[in-house]
Parts: sequence; structure tokens; C-alpha cells
Amino acid sequence: MIKVVIFDLDNTLTDFKRMKESAVDAAVEAMVDAGLRYPTETIKQNVYDVYDREGIEFQGVFDEVLRELLGEVDHKILAAGVVAYRRAREASLVLYPHVRVTLFELMKRGIRLAVVSDAPRKEAWLRLCYLQLHHMFDKVLTFDDTGERKPSPTPFQKVLDHFGVGPQETLMVGDWPERDITGAARLGITTVFARYGDTFGTVESGAKYEIRDIIELIEIVDDLRRENEGST
Ligand SMILES: [Mg+2]
Repeated sequence: MIKVVIFDLDNTLTDFKRMKESAVDAAVEAMVDAGLRYPTETIKQNVYDVYDREGIEFQGVFDEVLRELLGEVDHKILAAGVVAYRRAREASLVLYPHVRVTLFELMKRGIRLAVVSDAPRKEAWLRLCYLQLHHMFDKVLTFDDTGERKPSPTPFQKVLDHFGVGPQETLMVGDWPERDITGAARLGITTVFARYGDTFGTVESGAKYEIRDIIELIEIVDDLRRENEGST
């Protein structure tokens, strides 16, 4: 009987990649408008190089790019980029289709919901609040809450302990096989690969289930519940 569903956040509930690209595009255009005399493609390449080096959540990305291109930070250009980035981020941070209805359907079945994310705590909560999801999860665990990233078993075990459930009563849904699927499967949690959020061209996810739309989760949960009824 499934009692708890754990979700990864970025590229599983939210289309993080699309949000990031829209926000970076807007920031680069605004910096050019404010006087940065480089081709937009060059600036974008610099931005993504910094993200590759420092991590996708790195907050000082435009400072760093300006330092690299100009030898110093021009604060007029920096401010233009940051403002455009924030506006575009807010506008383009969206849920995948059927996320909200799926979460409600799971809740109607008495299933408790959790998030396990490697994002920094503040960023994760900001995204959840922007998306009006902050009241729907009984437990949200970020990197800052455990100090460990998936596939470490620690965050998954903490969720099981919090709800007092076993791995066989829990589903994990995520888009990153090496982190989301491997980490949960090690504890015996049933795994679901969010194929719709795949940005790596994953061939073999290693998950028990694969979904192309998050709403397919409902059928998986209902099937698992029926199987359970049949076996008791
Ligand atoms: Mg993810």
C-alpha cells in the first residue's frame, strides 16, 4: 500500500531548464541594452560556462561574467541583468502539465507528499511559493537540511522516518537517474522516472516505472493499491 510519494523538484515538478534559459536570455538582452558590447551568443556562453563551473544555482553569475568580459563589474549593466533575470524567472517558472491535479488526486487518496531536492533551501522554498505548492507537502528536504546530496540515502531515510513508513509504502519520482532513482532504489523505495523532465537523453533510467506525463502516477498508485488488496 503506497502511503507516501516523494518528488524531486527541478525538472520533475517544475520545468527548471526552461525557466533558466528564459531568465538568462532576458538578462543577456538587458545587459546588451545597458551597454555591454558583446554578441549575445558570446555572453550566453560565458554565463553557462560559469554555471558549469560554479553550479547552476550560483548567485554571482553576472558579476563573474562581467569581470571576465570587462575586467571589472559595471554596476549599471549588472543591475539591468539582475532585474531582467528576476522578472523573467518569475514569469517563466511553471509547472509541467497535470502537476497540480496529480498532487490533488494523490492527496484525495490520503497519500502524504514530500519533496527531496538538492537545491539550496532558500531557492527551493522560493520556487515552491512562486508555484503555490508550499502548502501541499508535509515534508520538504533540501541540501541544507541534511548536508547530503542524492543519491545519499540520508534524505530518503529522513522522509521515511518522518512519516513512519517503510520503503515498500513509498514512491520516489525524479528526472535524474543517478541521483533520484539510484538513491531511492538503494533503500528499497519503488522508483518512477519522470521521462518528460529528462534533459540528459537518458536511455536506461533503471527505474521500476517510467512516465511521460505526471498524471500517469495516479494509475501506478491505484494499481499498486489494488495489488496490495488482492494479496491480503
Ligand atoms: Mg531534478
